[in-house]
Amino acid sequence: MTIERTLAIIKPDAVAKGVAGQIITRIEHAGFKILAARLIHMSADEARGFYVVHRERPFYGSLCTFMTQGPCLPMVLEGENAIQRWRDLMGATDFTKAAPGTIRRDFASSIEANAVHGSDSPESAAFEIPYFFSSLELCPR
Ligand code: ADP
Ligand code: MG
Repeated sequence: MTIERTLAIIKPDAVAKGVAGQIITRIEHAGFKILAARLIHMSADEARGFYVVHRERPFYGSLCTFMTQGPCLPMVLEGENAIQRWRDLMGATDFTKAAPGTIRRDFASSIEANAVHGSDSPESAAFEIPYFFSSLELCPR
């Protein structure tokens, strides 16, 4: 097992619904260490840059609008096998297909407004973590 870091976001739908605290509780109960967290309201350019990997997808414009509709809460999570374990806790992209007990199954409203984000690989974590957090903010304390 390797200790990994992953980028999690509590998306604007979940922050607006007032379930950020419940999601953070699940993160803590699952044993992740929250290394950094910040409530931000993304601009259109910031959302487009974050999701640039999806720029050719038909949902790209709508996704970027959704991510700017209100504040969201990016976080860096650390733990054993953190990238896959956070994806497992999140559940499938389409909440109607997400397993019972997963965050998306319990808190998503649609395939787009699906409550949380998680890096899908070490390569995406290596892009996504520094997108929001500097190495200074991630230094051990
Ligand atoms: P995931 O977040 O599970 O890694 P993707 O990377 O495929 O999923 O998609 C990024 C985000 O784009 C999803 O979390 C969701 O908010 C949105 N999305 C994905 N597929 C669709 C779709 N078919 N229609 C609308 N929004 C979508
Ligand atoms: Mg993804």
